[in-house]
Amino acid sequence: MTVKAYGAYAGNLPLESMDITRRVPGEHDVQIEIAYCGVCHSDIHTVRAEWAGTLYPCVPGHEIVGRVSAVGACVSGFKMGDLVGVGCIVDSCKHCEECDAGLENYCDHMVGTYNGPTKDAPGHTLGGYSQRIVVHERYVLRIRHPEAQLAAVAPLLCAGITTYSPLRHWKVGPGHTVGVVGIGGLGHMGIKLAHAMGAHVVAITTSESKREAALKLGANETVVSRNANEMASYAKRFDFILNTVAAPHDLDALFNLLKRDGTMALVGAPATPHPSPQVFNLITKRRSLAGSMIGGIPETQEMLDFCAQHGIVADIEMIRANEINTAYERMLKSDVRYRFVIDCGSLQAG
Ligand SMILES: [Zn+2]
Ligand SMILES: [Zn+2]
Repeated sequence: MTVKAYGAYAGNLPLESMDITRRVPGEHDVQIEIAYCGVCHSDIHTVRAEWAGTLYPCVPGHEIVGRVSAVGACVSGFKMGDLVGVGCIVDSCKHCEECDAGLENYCDHMVGTYNGPTKDAPGHTLGGYSQRIVVHERYVLRIRHPEAQLAAVAPLLCAGITTYSPLRHWKVGPGHTVGVVGIGGLGHMGIKLAHAMGAHVVAITTSESKREAALKLGANETVVSRNANEMASYAKRFDFILNTVAAPHDLDALFNLLKRDGTMALVGAPATPHPSPQVFNLITKRRSLAGSMIGGIPETQEMLDFCAQHGIVADIEMIRANEINTAYERMLKSDVRYRFVIDCGSLQAG
């Protein structure tokens, strides 16, 4: 089945309208008419070949929401008309230690929603900037938010789970002081989620102008990291720091904010490395530097249900598919509050 999509034929070319093919649903497949797709920084890195290994044509998009339009004969969990989501993962080996633990995100054979290996044409997966997608039921998520919130649910599928998973893994909750570094697509979700989990949330930003917005998102306090005095006043205050910044930056200034035994988890993926951390900043307080990548399928469902229960969605700006190139330029200038979401209905026009 041929459907409309938006993608690029090379890393130095803008995205444009294209026709792509989706497979006929197999026994375990769910076919989804995509209503909205969020726009993630990984989309830009991949489509512009800033990370190694981009295959073309490249259709990005892994924050997908829509409605089920067909299911395979063996699918029991979903039916026509269900509101569903697809995140960053569309396949994995299904039998390794990680898959058995529901941590498909750490499977060595995890297949990304775009630019991953597949038997389908053209030999690599094509993402959510499209009208339709066909996905094995294991990787399809149920959405329990009201339908009116559907567009704002889309970014939960990557930005939401990427921040939820480390907050849960490091058991953030009441009595904890949590720093969230960077107030963008990921960070704004981190603030909302840590707040809903009952933590005392401190937003850490480079920009004075973001203070008020951070408080509105649910932060209890804000720190401007360029202000050395202010940073010093927060020394040894944090149990946990969720660092969402993808640009290379000085990690040492942030370690000083952690208490003894505190952990800083990195979730941003820089195209070039951070300057190496000072070991002394770690050993003198038994601090940990950690990383976390998206989340497994069961935890993604748990996150969606948690968000539905707490009325949490992303703050979004809706665009038409043909506005994507401009949206990328604005994202690179951090000129979006806080996530662009493509109205995939606009693909019809080509
Ligand atoms: Zn993403
Ligand atoms: Zn596996």
